[in-house]
Amino acid sequence: MNKNFLVQEILRLKKEKNAVILAHYYQDEDIQEIADFIGDSLELAKKAQNTNADIIVFAGVHFMAETAKILNPNKKVVLPDWNAGCSLADGCPPEDFRLFKEQHPDHIVVTYINCSAQIKAMSDLVCTSANAKKIIESIPAEQKIIFAPDENLGKYLEKETKRELVLWKGSCVVHEAFSLDKLIEIYSNNPTAKIAAHPESEDHILKAAHYIGSTSGIINFIKTDPAAVFIVATEAGILHELTKAVPDKTLIPAPTTEDNSCACSECAYMKMNTLEKLYLCLKNERPEMLITEELRTEALKPIRRMLELS
Ligand code: SF4
Repeated sequence: MNKNFLVQEILRLKKEKNAVILAHYYQDEDIQEIADFIGDSLELAKKAQNTNADIIVFAGVHFMAETAKILNPNKKVVLPDWNAGCSLADGCPPEDFRLFKEQHPDHIVVTYINCSAQIKAMSDLVCTSANAKKIIESIPAEQKIIFAPDENLGKYLEKETKRELVLWKGSCVVHEAFSLDKLIEIYSNNPTAKIAAHPESEDHILKAAHYIGSTSGIINFIKTDPAAVFIVATEAGILHELTKAVPDKTLIPAPTTEDNSCACSECAYMKMNTLEKLYLCLKNERPEMLITEELRTEALKPIRRMLELS
């Protein structure tokens, strides 16, 4: 379908149906351009909580739309592609996690927001990469903690908070794909550059970074730091917003181990969403995120605690 037609129709339907489009920074440029709000997981969760729209079109991955539904039981939440999953969420099956939890009965459970509603319902607190340190530090020092599902983020938090965490061994396929050797090579050619990395990245990448933070944290760092060149170790979709925010700075996506067409790391799940699928889901109001009230109320408790603490 023609892009102009899709844009016009999305704008028309959005008004007609009182819908809001929330998009993650990792979405395609076309989707970011038409979104009412672009953000990272924490910003989008807050936005979803406060919207007056009747329909939330969630241009992100499945667990994000699910979180929006948990926060908004009376609103219709639709997503462009039902199969837009996440290796972290998919790598933490509820039954396996239940057994893992049973092996550590005296631990409380902190889960990264990148997990299913079933996992959230088994958690005491949810966090995002933007508030994870604060959430862990809000827990009394003597209390033992399970952290799931991202092992890399968990290891980073252990260092930052100087606490031992029992870690679930999950990972983000996108942030695990960065090549340290290629990163060093690019840095050698740009010695004044600053490296900004997301804490889902592996430890050797984080050790090389000048700044470690969430997607919104990385954006703020690059906006405010005086350096002229930045090597960015997170999903390449962030560069769209950044290029507009800092047109005078040079942004280099961190390279991946595998050679690919973009010489960067892209989330195949996030990129399943297209402008055409967004149009169709707004027009047909499906696929719709539905969740049982029992599961929703259980999953809501740790999300509420997070939102109160952040
Ligand atoms: S970038 Fe990683 S954590 Fe984010 S949705 Fe994709 S697979 Fe999941």
